[in-house]
Amino acid sequence: MKGSAGHKVLLFVLLPDVIMRPIMMTHSQALQGICELVGPIGWIDAADEMQPYLHEERGLYEGTAAAVVKPASTAEVAAVLKLCNEAGLGVVPLGGNTGLVGGGVPDFPDGQGIVLSTQRLNAVRDVDALNQTITVEAGVILAEIQRIAEEAGTLFPLSLGAEGSCQIGGNLSTNAGGVQVLRYGNARDLVLGLEVVLADGRIWNGLRALRKDNTGYDLKHLFMGAEGTLGIITAAVLKLFPRPPARETALCAAGDAGSLLQVLKRMRNSAGEALSAFEIMNRFGIEIAEKHVPSANDPFDEPHREYALIELSGGNGIRETLETVLEEALEDGLIDDAVLAASTAQSDELWAIREAIPEAQKHEGGSIKHDVSVPVSSVGDFLEEATSLVEAELPGVRVCAFGHAGDGNIHFNLSQPPGADKGAYLENWGRINRLIHDMVMGMGGSFSAEHGIGQLKRGDLVRYKSDVELSLMKAMKMTLDPKNIMNPGKVI
Ligand SMILES: Cc1cc2nc3c(=O)[nH]c(=O)nc-3n(C[C@H](O)[C@H](O)[C@H](O)COP(=O)(O)OP(=O)(O)OC[C@H]3O[C@@H](n4cnc5c(N)ncnc54)[C@H](O)[C@@H]3O)c2cc1C
Repeated sequence: MKGSAGHKVLLFVLLPDVIMRPIMMTHSQALQGICELVGPIGWIDAADEMQPYLHEERGLYEGTAAAVVKPASTAEVAAVLKLCNEAGLGVVPLGGNTGLVGGGVPDFPDGQGIVLSTQRLNAVRDVDALNQTITVEAGVILAEIQRIAEEAGTLFPLSLGAEGSCQIGGNLSTNAGGVQVLRYGNARDLVLGLEVVLADGRIWNGLRALRKDNTGYDLKHLFMGAEGTLGIITAAVLKLFPRPPARETALCAAGDAGSLLQVLKRMRNSAGEALSAFEIMNRFGIEIAEKHVPSANDPFDEPHREYALIELSGGNGIRETLETVLEEALEDGLIDDAVLAASTAQSDELWAIREAIPEAQKHEGGSIKHDVSVPVSSVGDFLEEATSLVEAELPGVRVCAFGHAGDGNIHFNLSQPPGADKGAYLENWGRINRLIHDMVMGMGGSFSAEHGIGQLKRGDLVRYKSDVELSLMKAMKMTLDPKNIMNPGKVI
């Protein structure tokens, strides 16, 4: 201590100017330093090679960057951020680039900054079967984690349509949901510890593999769902679960969504935590899935208005439970028909219908999208009221409502009227979003159930969050990233 204090005084005497004035690094000096640090394998600055990292799949956002940087270790991420922070150079973290709100697309106020891809941070650091945990780096693909968990005789339950290309760092940064939230929770519920590189380059090693740890603020939750605006998640300790010995899948059809929610209630009461998915789809969703995706086939002879895909996973008795609840629902007139998968292949076929809908919608022209949630008890009312509203506002619109009804989360998507001009139709996006989001918020819901804020919903955040909540969010941002280098222009 003595020595270091003396050292500081000596520097002040010899170099007062240097100590008093902050030394600002220029953007080009920082870029040069980063390029040298990561080497040619971790550096892209040719326009055509950067292209895949600068736009998102819906084509809503396109950005520019000085370079795409791919560090190979946490230490390299830290060194890169330190340089960026010194120069005030913006950084957009990017995982699998499957996000749906433009969060991974650069929107630098000064047009300067880098995309930091976590593609090369792809090590599985540890699998602890007894502790039921897996420690992975941010760039590991979600499907790969599921596969490794299975090899270890366990389950990692996060599951979503993009699982073949999204990365765990992106999943945690968006607090992804998916099809098994009903039983296992959102991404943040599956995490025990995190490693994060802060904006100034410091590394927070919070990689604790503990199920009990009441030692002050639970910092990991700040970074999950922050969409890269507070730091870069470089690794995580994830929870593993026992693998259910069996799964049973059914598709049932009804005249209205409210009846299906009654089935949900009964299924929950009878199956308890064995109920792992309850997805709803309307007729239009099934029709277009069958029309555009060869693997999707409607198993019923007659068309119906609403459908629910139900999955139970667990041990003995789940098939009987599924059969009994559906038989009683048929007798009571809640549903009109039901099919139960007799094999894994048939179960996969039923899931193929649900999974085909987002792809099928792309072939039906412009689509105005909503990723909203309401209390489960309000899902039926929401669907009725929202459908009447948009049919009045956009004559001829085709409602494609599907999603995780068991969590109250509906993707309320609106395909353009056949033959309409796509560009002119999409000009209604903001107006219709506003009407639907106002309705959802009036029902005690959320204008972004699982995809986050990114660039798409920045305005909604300001409109619907209270001043108190916004000021707390801003205070956190100022504390962790005072120079606003982390994903500038996103979320807040
Ligand atoms: C077909 C399809 C189906 C989908 N289904 C679902 C679904 O059911 N549920 C759901 O929730 N989402 C779903 N999504 C959306 C998307 O897959 C998820 O948001 C996913 O979690 C994003 O992961 P990613 O690796 O692609 O992240 P990216 O798109 O690369 O990034 C998303 C955001 O996280 C930030 N980020 C990425 N990595 C890091 C990191 N290591 N540290 C800090 N910030 C980071 C980015 O800056 C960006 O803001 C779906 C998308 C598609 C295309």
